[in-house]
Amino acid sequence: MSIQQAGSSRRNKWVALVDGTNFFVSCERAFSPRLHGRPVGVMSNNDGCIIARSDELKALGVPMGAPVHKIQHLIRRHRIALLSSNFTLYADMNRRLNDILSCFSDRVEPYSVDESFVELSGFFTDGLLEQGRQIEQAIAQQAHLPVGVGIAQTRTLAKLANSQAKLKRQGPKVSVLDADADSTCQLLEATPVEEVWGVGKRLAERLRRLGIDNAWQLREAPEAMLRKRFSVTLARIQMELKGQPCHDGSGKETAKKQLRVSRSFGRASDNQQEVLDALRHHVQRAAEKLREQKSLVKTFSIFLRTNPFRSDRPQHSDTLLYQFDQPTADTTEMLEAARKLLRRLWREGYHYHKAGVLLMELVDASPAQLSVLETSETQNQRLKRERLMQVMDRVNLSQGRGSVTLGVGMKEAGWKARQEKRSPAYTTSWQELPKVVAR
Ligand SMILES: [Mg+2]
Repeated sequence: MSIQQAGSSRRNKWVALVDGTNFFVSCERAFSPRLHGRPVGVMSNNDGCIIARSDELKALGVPMGAPVHKIQHLIRRHRIALLSSNFTLYADMNRRLNDILSCFSDRVEPYSVDESFVELSGFFTDGLLEQGRQIEQAIAQQAHLPVGVGIAQTRTLAKLANSQAKLKRQGPKVSVLDADADSTCQLLEATPVEEVWGVGKRLAERLRRLGIDNAWQLREAPEAMLRKRFSVTLARIQMELKGQPCHDGSGKETAKKQLRVSRSFGRASDNQQEVLDALRHHVQRAAEKLREQKSLVKTFSIFLRTNPFRSDRPQHSDTLLYQFDQPTADTTEMLEAARKLLRRLWREGYHYHKAGVLLMELVDASPAQLSVLETSETQNQRLKRERLMQVMDRVNLSQGRGSVTLGVGMKEAGWKARQEKRSPAYTTSWQELPKVVAR
């Protein structure tokens, strides 16, 4: 397994992957003790399907993405608590988590809504497990969130260490994976090749045809062959498995896992339409980049901020997240999300200086990602829109960026998310603070 080797005492650079356990559910539980010990699910934007599950709900066999109407019998029988998604709360809890992590390291890199990489240097291997425990404890005490911590020499190995940490039934969910330890061979042998970070389903199929079934075989495969038959990217993944870092945190080496497009305005604006126009531009650029690297986005967010150097003006800075029911690369859907989020973020009377779009939780645009729940009608619509995007990208590539854009006549339908069971925005809205009633 992935326990560190006693007696190993090399000083090295290490990276920890800190990952929130059942993050959305845990955020809800942090403010609502009644949700502890029972099955809890968080639903998608329109209360349509399950997007986060507590362990108790997983144990009932409810799969990720299950349509709520199909599990009604279970809901009644097992007292399942279902909540509308509250992305304002989750984004704020994510910020808290990263604030706590920044006490442990100068280099914290948020990777997705519930995961961050933390560089740890100057540690002997023996001290790493203890450091991981302290991180886990600090987050439990200060943010009331459970996390798993995986520590290794590289991000790719830290991901695997994290999966190991989460498997632990008791004690701290912390695992250290030393690339040079003997036990690492067994662990990598037990890891199917598609579970290696950056190896998608299609790539895994090709590797399996060459007899590369697990992570250890990938690590030991001839590098020249990997470079020749595959790509530099795969050779880098191999280096990472050997404990040699190839990710410098910029994400340039592999398909990016986050895409960010933002810009300061020429002059601060207190006009919502103006800011929306700027965001529309950013969304289109981000969507293009997304399609270029053949990814889909699951979590979409926009942020707004006033100029922090204008102390004479009131300050406001905030981020909102939107979770798509299905991962998408569709500009129209992202524009709709941006409009909706901006409406909620916007505060009158503030002069906004910068706005941006951040795409998080990117996944491979493989057919496997498209839901089995899709009907032939929605599939047709999606294919039509995909063709439209392809044409747009091609024209923009040949005629110059921005030649064809979307933005006029966007449909308003479907904007009113149902969200009937959303918990209060405990941490970000004065109106929704928990009330204490004296009896
Ligand atoms: Mg997680």
